Amino acid sequence: MNLSSKPHAMYTPRALQALEQGLVELESHALTRRRRIADSPCAPHICLDGEQVVAFASNDYLGLASHPALIDAIAEGARRYGAGSGGSHLLGGHSRAHVLLEDALADYAGGFARAPRALSFSTGYMANLAILTALAGRGATIYSDALNHASLIDGARLSRADVRIYPHADAVALAAMMDDDHGDGVKLIVTDAVFSMDGDVAPLAELAALAERHQAWLVVDDAHGFGVQGGDGAGTVAALGLRSSLLVYMGTLGKAAGVSGAFVVAESTVIEWLVQRARTYIFTTAAAPALAHAARASVALMRGPEGAARRRVLRANVDAMRGFVARTAWATPAAHTPILPIVIGVNEAALALAGSLMEQGFWVPAVRPPTVPAGTARLRLSLSAAHEPVDIERLGAALLAAGGAGAPYAAGGAGAASPFGGIDSI
Ligand SMILES: *Cc1c(COP(=O)(O)O)cnc(C)c1O
Repeated sequence: MNLSSKPHAMYTPRALQALEQGLVELESHALTRRRRIADSPCAPHICLDGEQVVAFASNDYLGLASHPALIDAIAEGARRYGAGSGGSHLLGGHSRAHVLLEDALADYAGGFARAPRALSFSTGYMANLAILTALAGRGATIYSDALNHASLIDGARLSRADVRIYPHADAVALAAMMDDDHGDGVKLIVTDAVFSMDGDVAPLAELAALAERHQAWLVVDDAHGFGVQGGDGAGTVAALGLRSSLLVYMGTLGKAAGVSGAFVVAESTVIEWLVQRARTYIFTTAAAPALAHAARASVALMRGPEGAARRRVLRANVDAMRGFVARTAWATPAAHTPILPIVIGVNEAALALAGSLMEQGFWVPAVRPPTVPAGTARLRLSLSAAHEPVDIERLGAALLAAGGAGAPYAAGGAGAASPFGGIDSI
């Protein structure tokens, strides 16, 4: 048979039919996701699907993603080191640019450790898989917050450890679970520092005390806190002044840092173990050195007076937006972070509100299950230092019109159970 001959026009394989049916089912539950196309750099005012909109959607909390100094740094890095790394870190792809970035990161975010060292990764997703698979294995126990990021969930699964989910941000419940556990296997407590869909902050001091008591690793994913939390932006762990050799800190470079990539900071021994054992470090092409070069420039910006000034503007923007949300019928989130969820409930209602805001020129994404638990579809509003007061006031007015007492979207309520509902738990 000639496999390169004309495709069969009349016949749809069963495997393909199943996918078509799956897509129809997603659509029927208002769960189809669409990618909107940006024709401009990441900024509050962007051209999205051909329309000018004000975006409250990015993780570019400090407004650094289109900072001229970082654009120049990428160009300079490319001139100095080339366009690509050409190989994995252990086989020729490890550049001076990566080394300098790692040194800067260990110095910035490693204050919790005795001998801090950093390891850079191409993405936070890979960094989390690296930590969990290298530190945990069969016989280990991973204690994981119920609302942890998908990359931590996947890393825990891939590690083959026993996974025990503790109620969200509940250190008391976790303590009871750990007291119950009399095994002597490796233990890890794993948590987002700032939760990506709720914007609240993990009880890290309590978790660190538990980690010490049970000699467990404490793995902290600070994707949304690095660059933002703490006076100097060194992240949520540094802001709390925690110190422990059991801490393993992950931060990302594509959110507040405005570039791309991620890193782990821990005791030097932990980092050496990752270099030797972490498959998502070893078996992948090193990120372009130009990106590492730009990320180091970003660290310098975040640490310096410009970073401090941007954090002050960001905090003012967060407070101003919270003031508007507080005047609607929706609950105002407790934590003062740049992630402001407005929980609507039903998928269709969240989509309708996002659609109505889009018609008024605001891009505020609706987040649905399985990214968030069923019945908690929401708008995920994120703020940046790059937003102008007028951006916030205009969105605030639109929210008041939509969700003030008696307004069309104010009711909320729990969504109907759907086959796709429920957080994608372990
Ligand atoms: C974004 C994010 C990641 C993944 O980081 P990438 O660099 O985008 O792969 C991991 N954890 C959390 C909490 C995140 O929000």
